[in-house]
Amino acid sequence: MSVKVRFAPSPTGKLHVGNVRTALVNWMFAKGQGGSFVLRIDDTDLARSTPEFEQGIEDDLTWLGLVWDERYNQSKRFDRYHDAAERLKAAGRLYPAWDTPEELDRRRKVQLSRGLPPIYDRAALALSDEDKAALEAEGRKPHWRFKLDGRRVAWEDLSRGHAEVDTTSMSDPVLIREDGLYLYTLPSVVDDIDMGITHVIRGEDHTTNTGAQIEIFEALIAAGLGTTVPTFAHMPLLVGADGAALSKRLGSLSVAEMRDQGYEPIAITSHLGRIGTSDPLEVADSIEALGQGFSFDKMGRSPARYDNEDLDRLNAQALHAMPYAAAKGRLETLDCDLGETFWDAVRANLTKFGDVVDLARMVRGPVTPVIEDPAFAAAALAVLPETIDAGAWSVWTSAVKDSTGAKGKALFMPLRHILTGQPHGPDMATIVPLIGRERIEKRLKGEVA
Ligand code: GLU
Repeated sequence: MSVKVRFAPSPTGKLHVGNVRTALVNWMFAKGQGGSFVLRIDDTDLARSTPEFEQGIEDDLTWLGLVWDERYNQSKRFDRYHDAAERLKAAGRLYPAWDTPEELDRRRKVQLSRGLPPIYDRAALALSDEDKAALEAEGRKPHWRFKLDGRRVAWEDLSRGHAEVDTTSMSDPVLIREDGLYLYTLPSVVDDIDMGITHVIRGEDHTTNTGAQIEIFEALIAAGLGTTVPTFAHMPLLVGADGAALSKRLGSLSVAEMRDQGYEPIAITSHLGRIGTSDPLEVADSIEALGQGFSFDKMGRSPARYDNEDLDRLNAQALHAMPYAAAKGRLETLDCDLGETFWDAVRANLTKFGDVVDLARMVRGPVTPVIEDPAFAAAALAVLPETIDAGAWSVWTSAVKDSTGAKGKALFMPLRHILTGQPHGPDMATIVPLIGRERIEKRLKGEVA
């Protein structure tokens, strides 16, 4: 049996870090097992779903490298949900209920005041045929509830180990609203059956859902739809660096924003793919390598800490390791392609790719030299070698040392400051040949060049 998983976002918003982690863990697990990854757009809520959000989700996944093998829209599959609903009705597992939200709310309050769990009392099941006919005659439309067995539903969770949900403590879930809208619960199960999903991997906030959904799987299997209940994995949720719930700001941080902030896809995927696992938090060579290295055995039960500082560190690592061939196109786009030597000299100084713009300006100007001691600058100019090649820096700095007596920091710092306008930066020996003699001479004279 080959592995098949799905990532099932609702196109009612942008992809944020939490969704990406779910998508990524699904992708990594599938790829590590030689299986396939399905993108399922959960757009049964036609009022809230938009084509723009759907497109955004696809763009973000593609940018991250999370390529899907199959893709579906729930909005094109209503006939399948209808068929499943009819089977459940025929089996007595899906029943109409006319209770209004106000009635439900009032009864919940009574239950709570009596110390009872506020679960649906199944009043609708007690209605006679005449009662139902009368309600219909008033023009009222029912919603439809799944009749839970009310038992301990147990499964072996790939992430949590042995898991159990007691469905006696749950209300019969509404599967179809009075306006005919299919809520997520049933379509998801029907799709998992039809698409042959072998593993359902999602956040642990879905654990209770799973209890009801396993009952729905079993009811549909008994009604002739599908053969097996998939394996489940409920991942611990993301928390902030302080161990508390992820802040609203971080929790809603979208992939689009991270892209705009200059993060590399591999830094984001390495971070989200490795937090909460026993793997070291280092940048991976490729997303494929992340997939090959993934296993639920490495995922602990403790929540995964999302720390922006880690992401920054991984981003810098990704840039430091980036070969010129991978950078060239982007350097061209930024009009900063000063060749391989330049890239190799500056990449270790980058935290975001866009930092390269300032470094390119350092080389080709304009730079406003910072000259604290004009006499020192003049002395340095006097001994500037004719040819600025790879060895020029060491020849020149020893000549400056001989003529001025400056050494160590007092020698190197003013030269850097004059030539680049900055107190820090890339290795001077590598960049002086790139700056070139003409500009060096001007900068030593205090000219903007
Ligand atoms: N659309 C659902 C959600 O975003 C999918 C949950 C699932 O993976 O089954 O929560």
